[in-house]
Amino acid sequence: MRGTVLYGTRDIRFEEVPAPAVLHPTDAVIRIAAACVCGSDLWPYRGISPVGKPTPMGHEYCGVVEEVGRAVRSVKPGQFVIGSFFASDNTCPNCQAGYQTSCQHRELVGGAQAGRLRVPLADGTLVATPEMPPADLIPSLLAISDVMGTGWFAADAANVGPGKNVVVVGDGAVGLLGVLSAKQMGAGRIIAMSRHETRQKLAREFGATDIVTERGDEGIARVKELTGGVGADCVLECVGTQESMMQAIHATRPGGSVGYVGVPHGVALNGQDLFYAHVHLHGGPAPVRRYLPQLIDLVWQRKINPGKVFDLTLPLERVAEGYAAMDTRRAIKALLRPEAA
Ligand SMILES: [Zn+2]
Ligand SMILES: [Zn+2]
Repeated sequence: MRGTVLYGTRDIRFEEVPAPAVLHPTDAVIRIAAACVCGSDLWPYRGISPVGKPTPMGHEYCGVVEEVGRAVRSVKPGQFVIGSFFASDNTCPNCQAGYQTSCQHRELVGGAQAGRLRVPLADGTLVATPEMPPADLIPSLLAISDVMGTGWFAADAANVGPGKNVVVVGDGAVGLLGVLSAKQMGAGRIIAMSRHETRQKLAREFGATDIVTERGDEGIARVKELTGGVGADCVLECVGTQESMMQAIHATRPGGSVGYVGVPHGVALNGQDLFYAHVHLHGGPAPVRRYLPQLIDLVWQRKINPGKVFDLTLPLERVAEGYAAMDTRRAIKALLRPEAA
């Protein structure tokens, strides 16, 4: 089998790798229907979080179950399934509380940019669709595996609800799907912060009512202008830099909430600043598993179309082009299709 391996900075190779197998009784092996490149894959790709050794890439996936271990009960071969980037048992106290990405037995899923994938803790991790999906739904089902689930968590963590004013910091795929999530949750005004025309267009399509192109203090001032001088009720932070985090905190009204899902790189918060900001902060790796049944249903009923964030589709063997296109922001998100096998 061939799969995607990162060797070092901007050195992505599609090469022969060991075929995955059931190693534990709770494992499943799935045949990937579609995979994609994640914004977080770009951190090691750019050498900001160096890999150190050749590393199989990919953690967003959907596909058909081929084989299950003898302890697996809830999914069976032939079913179409979606999972998240952390495998979870879905039974421990943290899972029961809805924080499956903090599962006491969590395992990072890797190597999904390949033809096949081993998924640990299959019963807790994978959720099957009602039947085999039509081809046009596959991009949206794939999006649920991470970006859509993460955008949804950002909105949920920011306490988005009917009529609330929402700001979304970040116009990557997660930010754009944060807009879509806020719209689904009944938000009133949705302000997307973006400087890129194609992304602004998609943000509007997903439900943004206003676009703010300014950043930093100017961006905060612009949000205040749009929200009666107080700031937004809910702010979704979908980048993970110092600037974006400060922008999010200071664009929030006193008593409002920040949902932060951008993986922080070099973010440090000043205690006094935070103290006087008077905001709720909630975030972390999105517990996508909590939302999978609901999001699968919304896609299945064709009420949401998060697959629109994929503006580049490539055969899996051309995966390196997908990384390069996202690295230079020529593409929002690249979908990868393995050859039929
Ligand atoms: Zn991801
Ligand atoms: Zn658990």
